[in-house]
Amino acid sequence: MQDQSVITSADLRTLPDPACTRFMRLVYDSQVQLWSAKKAVYAGNIPGAFLKNLPAGDSLPGRSIQLHSDIIDVVRKMLKDARKALSRAKSAGLKKGQHVIDIRIRSGYRSASKQFSIWERNYPKYYKRTREHRRILEGGEHGERAMQFLAKYINQRVFSPGYSPHQHGKAVDFTYKEDGVWAEADTSPESIFKWEESWLFFWLRQHGAAYGFTQNPDINEPWHWECDFNGEFAGGFWY
Ligand SMILES: [Zn+2]
Repeated sequence: MQDQSVITSADLRTLPDPACTRFMRLVYDSQVQLWSAKKAVYAGNIPGAFLKNLPAGDSLPGRSIQLHSDIIDVVRKMLKDARKALSRAKSAGLKKGQHVIDIRIRSGYRSASKQFSIWERNYPKYYKRTREHRRILEGGEHGERAMQFLAKYINQRVFSPGYSPHQHGKAVDFTYKEDGVWAEADTSPESIFKWEESWLFFWLRQHGAAYGFTQNPDINEPWHWECDFNGEFAGGFWY
């Protein structure tokens, strides 16, 4: 069950220049079409009754994180088991992980509305960054080509509202504390490399599937793991 009202480009704010407003809406729609082409299904906001708060000790300090009630217990069990395995590895004198002192969740459920505000906030930045390139395209900076180019550009950086895997409440971003610092969810190549070399990533690759968690092949983020649901739960259709 989810909120059936779909967020669309008509919900975007109006810009001072009507041509810019029209272009922004077309870019938004064009990005949504990229998802429809992949047969992705729009996910609306999940009602509060289906969400549970992760306890403070399992969340990145200072963050309040919600997860779908179907998976919260398994996520907590996973954290508990990973911490146990880490302390065993440390006692055994394993080099990797020796400076890791905790494992937690950095991000969980994110509503379509929240994703919409992220999209809207970031749009002007991507519009400006691609302007020079869009100007040399056939049809000019607000033409058909420009629209498709910007939609693809944005899609590599921000999910369309309704299509982020975090919106089902069944995806988590992990973090670990090593040498006093919580590992970031940072998509720079150096950061991804560091994460992939971490003790936690090795553990997740070996054991994640046993808890129903796998990596999304479309996303190159070692911290991001999704519950491996097949569309059917005891309660019926997944959302
Ligand atoms: Zn994620």
